Amino acid sequence: MSQRAAIYCRISEDRTGAGLGVERQREDCERLAERLGVAVVATYTDNDVSAYSGRTRAGYVALLDAMRAGDVDVVLSWHEDRLHRSPRELEDYIDACEPRAVVTHFAQAGQLDLSSASGRMTARIRGAVSRQESEHKSERIRRAQLQAAQAGKWLGGAPPFGWRVQADGSATLNRAEAREVRKASEAILAGASLGSIVADLNRRGVTTSTGRPWNYTSLRQVLERPRNAGLSMLRGEVVGKSTWPAIVSESTWRGVCAVLRDPSRKRSTSNRVRHLLAGIATCGAEGCGLPLKSASVTTSRPGTYRTVYRCPATGPGHVARDADALEAHVVGVLLGVLSKPENAPALAGEDAATSPEALRLEAVALRAQMGEAADMYAETKITGAQLAKINARLQERLDDAEAAMARTARGSALAWFAGRDPVKVWKSLSIDRKRDVVREVMTVRVLPSGRRGKVYDPDLVRIEPRGQQ
Ligand SMILES: [Zn+2]
Repeated sequence: MSQRAAIYCRISEDRTGAGLGVERQREDCERLAERLGVAVVATYTDNDVSAYSGRTRAGYVALLDAMRAGDVDVVLSWHEDRLHRSPRELEDYIDACEPRAVVTHFAQAGQLDLSSASGRMTARIRGAVSRQESEHKSERIRRAQLQAAQAGKWLGGAPPFGWRVQADGSATLNRAEAREVRKASEAILAGASLGSIVADLNRRGVTTSTGRPWNYTSLRQVLERPRNAGLSMLRGEVVGKSTWPAIVSESTWRGVCAVLRDPSRKRSTSNRVRHLLAGIATCGAEGCGLPLKSASVTTSRPGTYRTVYRCPATGPGHVARDADALEAHVVGVLLGVLSKPENAPALAGEDAATSPEALRLEAVALRAQMGEAADMYAETKITGAQLAKINARLQERLDDAEAAMARTARGSALAWFAGRDPVKVWKSLSIDRKRDVVREVMTVRVLPSGRRGKVYDPDLVRIEPRGQQ
């Protein structure tokens, strides 16, 4: 069976292949497919005028989804800069190629082997060079965009999910859509996976602003928009306050971005088997206290297994307990604690100096000071060297404040239980996040039982609030 190929074509104004029509790109790619002996199973096309339009490319998104779904073995495109427009897109593309070693061929520039480290490095360098050229070319456009961005104006394109854009370019919240953005942001902070949120949105018939079903890429793009936090941003930098109403707090938005960019996220959302209390519950044998490990043991029925938590130390007195029974017991107690309103403020545990609001105000103040320094430079009251020095100092503090905001938002999974149905929240959490919650709230000590393999006895487990044992 021949390999399945997808063709990707894009019309744009950039340097390479300026004005090259989609038809011509497609023909070249089809010839390439013949030469390689691969079967074209799909063709994806986008029409975007500038690499900086920042608009979602529906064809590109669909291509990546097909690659992730394993429907594509080979990608054919006319030239590398038809395919991805930014280093960010290249990284997403590399991720989509990796699991099945999808190979990319270009009608103009040969082959892109993203399965080797050196191939990835070459692609990254070429991407950086073509970006630099593209940036140079669009200098004028960019300046106009900067002005508009500083004024918080909408730069055009499809109406963004979460707002209604008025004729004068101002915007109001689309309440239903804004609620979805807020819910999804909070779910990400609580440890839910993008996939589970996509599935939930599509099941409820919620569509993107262009009426399409959600996918991994489109949801991620919506959640990472600075505008969600009322910030106006251009080329990776906050350039001012958006005139549009914010949907989430700046700390929530920064937390979401931090979670989505965390490289450990991939590992923690993998399908690796993890048990809720492994390494958390401890052995209650006299003088032991070792964390219990999960283990699979045979049951009295041949060929069947069950999971137990047991002490790594062997010998009389050290404990083993049925995993299902112990988990049900611990989760029952935990949800009981979390559903009591009087526990909520204590669980949130925020001190005033690092509260999201205090950090947000500090960031606003720092950005204002940077703006003032720029004004002073413009009025020749200070030199360029002085401006650079002031900015470096302020930027350092701003970086700290922004990092702290991301941390605060991430640490708020417990606070998130407040005022919500704890059972629902608990069910939505990933196993890693559940383990964090257990660890933060309580300690679990399993006491030795005289009998072996008998009925589970809750009296032989000590569950205590953390910090009070
Ligand atoms: Zn022990």
